[in-house]
Amino acid sequence: MAGDKVWDVIVVGGGPAGSIAAMYLKRAGRDVLLIDKAAFPRDKVCGDAQGRKLATVMKDLGIYEHYRKLPGRPIYGLRLSAPNGVQIDMDLVDRQHGTPGYIVRRKDLDHFLFSSAKAMQVPTREKVQVEDIAFEGGRVTALHCKDLASGKPLQLQAKLFIAADGADSLFAKKLGQKNPPDHFIVALRAYYKDVEGMGDLIEIHLLKGIVPGYFWIFPLPDKEANVGLGMVVKQKTERGVDLVAELKKAVAENPLFKERFAKAQLDGGIKAWNLPVASYRRVIHGENFLLVGDAASLIDPLSGEGVGTASISAKLAAQVAVQALDSGQVNKPFLGQYEKALWDEIGREIKVDYRIQKLGNRFPFLLDKLMSKAAKDPAFRKKFESLLPYTEGKGKIGTWRFVASLFF
Ligand SMILES: Cc1cc2nc3c(=O)[nH]c(=O)nc-3n(C[C@H](O)[C@H](O)[C@H](O)COP(=O)(O)OP(=O)(O)OC[C@H]3O[C@@H](n4cnc5c(N)ncnc54)[C@H](O)[C@@H]3O)c2cc1C
Repeated sequence: MAGDKVWDVIVVGGGPAGSIAAMYLKRAGRDVLLIDKAAFPRDKVCGDAQGRKLATVMKDLGIYEHYRKLPGRPIYGLRLSAPNGVQIDMDLVDRQHGTPGYIVRRKDLDHFLFSSAKAMQVPTREKVQVEDIAFEGGRVTALHCKDLASGKPLQLQAKLFIAADGADSLFAKKLGQKNPPDHFIVALRAYYKDVEGMGDLIEIHLLKGIVPGYFWIFPLPDKEANVGLGMVVKQKTERGVDLVAELKKAVAENPLFKERFAKAQLDGGIKAWNLPVASYRRVIHGENFLLVGDAASLIDPLSGEGVGTASISAKLAAQVAVQALDSGQVNKPFLGQYEKALWDEIGREIKVDYRIQKLGNRFPFLLDKLMSKAAKDPAFRKKFESLLPYTEGKGKIGTWRFVASLFF
């Protein structure tokens, strides 16, 4: 690949955000290069739970039917437990007409997305790591990369760049974008075999000591499960919580789970990763670049869902990039349309979820009250269900007054 070629767009990072952005750009006829430092298939620490936002983008790209054939588990409901141990099962999706959520290992999902981009004739380079970014007058002039296979340096140029390089984004670092500790979650993920009692629902357990963080059990086929636990970094530090110890304790001792994990075995290690959350707004565009997905800090601050917002940001970034190239306006004011469109689409939902997260942190006893009421009162439970992050159509009803009406 000649180092002096100038691409229309280079997308850095072939995770969900990058592969989806590249597919939209290619579909619009653009000369796009997709690069990643990893070789696919590669693992990504994640809960593996995919919701309606990703499904909508997959349908739009015409790859939804293939996605649903990946080894995974369709999800129609939620099992939620409060710190006091009250547990309820709720429907999230209409079983006949709704689009279910899907638990699919990120190793499989990301490989599928990267391969789909290739199948759409997107030129791709794996094992190419961006090591430095050259800026001139606020514009990116070149990416200084290393070909990890040969060890040789490589310089890449484009009219426009899309940074989809994840939670440790070099682009974000270069722009001085760093979330404060109350806008960062740290989470653990483990795979377990032979877990009993799982159905077609995701499980979120608000355990004492980690609320409003939570412990999750997300079912995979054949009694396997993605199990994890996450907390806002500031709260974890202030309370001195040892997440690994909490995870092991939940599985071995908690009355809700210990029977179900009696014969379970850990498959691989317990891995940790950071989640930059969207309650903190980063600067996500510049003269000739856009940031998407985790690089743009777009994870839901309550649910930890980030693939959905990554896919929406990728689609919107690609659309604005195409318009900018078509009209010869690759500049900061024009690219600002991306940021506006993105917050118009996801801003309200993020705001509500952040408020619930803060409320749960300040008044954890309200969670017990809420769940006990939901367990007894079906009408209240319906109202509560409509607020949950994975529920279909949820974004439309999220207002602060509505949240307050749940509690009082
Ligand atoms: C423990 C945990 C649980 C989670 N659970 C869920 C969940 O259940 N559902 C959900 O929707 N979200 C979940 N998330 C969030 C989700 O994982 C992220 O939001 C999602 O991966 C974002 O996708 P992305 O494409 O932006 O970044 P990534 O998936 O991280 O992809 C970034 C890509 O960029 C590449 N890259 C990075 N730096 C460079 C470089 N310098 N040069 C070249 N390539 C580079 C990487 O190799 C990688 O392939 C969870 C996160 C964690 C940590």
